[in-house]
Amino acid sequence: MLYQRSSALFDEAYKYIPGGVNSPVRAFKSVGGVPIFMKSAKGAYMTDVDDNQYIEYINSWGPAILGHTHPEVLEAIKKQAKKGFSYGTPTELETEIAKYIVENVPNIDQIRMVSSGTEACMSAIRLARGFTGRNKFIKFEGCYHGHSDSFLIKAGSGMATFGNPSSPGVTPGTAKDTLLAKYNDIEEVEDLFRHNQGEIAAIIVEPVAGNMGCVLPENNFLQKLRTLCDENGALLIFDEVMTGFRLAFGGAQELYKVKADIVTFGKVIGGGLPVGAFAARNEIMDHLAPKGAVYQAGTLSGNPLAMRAGLTTLQLIKSDENFYQKLNKSTETLDFEIGKILNQKSIPHRINRKGSMMSIFFHVNAVSNFDEAANANHALFNNFFHQLLEKGIYLPPSGYESWFISAAITEKEIDKTLEVVRKFEYS
Ligand code: PLP
Repeated sequence: MLYQRSSALFDEAYKYIPGGVNSPVRAFKSVGGVPIFMKSAKGAYMTDVDDNQYIEYINSWGPAILGHTHPEVLEAIKKQAKKGFSYGTPTELETEIAKYIVENVPNIDQIRMVSSGTEACMSAIRLARGFTGRNKFIKFEGCYHGHSDSFLIKAGSGMATFGNPSSPGVTPGTAKDTLLAKYNDIEEVEDLFRHNQGEIAAIIVEPVAGNMGCVLPENNFLQKLRTLCDENGALLIFDEVMTGFRLAFGGAQELYKVKADIVTFGKVIGGGLPVGAFAARNEIMDHLAPKGAVYQAGTLSGNPLAMRAGLTTLQLIKSDENFYQKLNKSTETLDFEIGKILNQKSIPHRINRKGSMMSIFFHVNAVSNFDEAANANHALFNNFFHQLLEKGIYLPPSGYESWFISAAITEKEIDKTLEVVRKFEYS
């Protein structure tokens, strides 16, 4: 494939945008090479500025669960756009989507819309602190909850990709209130509660982690976190920015039958437009301004275009009673068939999968936390990524990211993907 125009555009972007990108992982820094500039996307495919076409396994890092530019979502956005882009006032549509989500997601009574997953998680922590009157919270190594200061300590996603999991600019004062534990290690969480009695406001967790690659909760990890929170008067925050409406309509709470106190959303909830949200039962949400004292606000929060795109996406998912079954089946086929091919080639690997999230770790051992993810052969992943990219398969450009399968993927795209994986040359 030729990437002439992408290369030229990247050189130009580099002059005016730090690192040439508006979000670090897009720069291909860990896999190497020049990032590809896209010009359009439809269904299961994206087309770059050099007219190369790709089968999509990132889907805008999760939001495009229906595939790109779904015609009904497009129509809904167009219709709303004619009535105005943003008013900065309440709208009927905001209540419509809030009611819809509250009625469909377990254990929440009220929801506040924001414009990104970062805002949602940052606000959820503030709310948990305001509600409990405590300062500290527990997060897990390799989990990513957006780029708010207190989360940028041993974080996943781009932070892991660049081998720089904690960020300069985060003050020691901020960092001291973020307590860290290994994902799936309940004893470390117990220790933290023991040594910080009465000080921990919340645990925030990706119920299925997608930011150290896809890593699943094991041995009733989520249930045990629930119990520890109950025993210690702390809140359990499920960061469902990735998993919300993706693993099930009611998210990981529904799938794992574990009740969270606060749930954060992003990605699918905006149908590709910039949206995040956080939700909880009345008792907690009543602490939020203007009703309560915990402040939180946003110029574009509840933006009508974004609300319409989000609501239409959610309604389309809900209207197909086999939606998740089909989506998960495609992902399962990819998992099994890619696994078979890699085995035939004697390439040590592990595929982690839940629903329509999956990752390949080139590793002989199971991967259930960040250290194990980091010990995988990332050089081999980079090689795999480039060989697939060259033949029109677009994977996340990092071994620390989850693939997101969309409903637009059919047998045709899966067959083509497997044909390319069969040609993978391993040296
Ligand atoms: N939480 C999780 C689990 C995420 O995966 C992400 C982003 O990938 C975020 C929070 C932050 O969301 P955003 O990038 O919309 O700020």
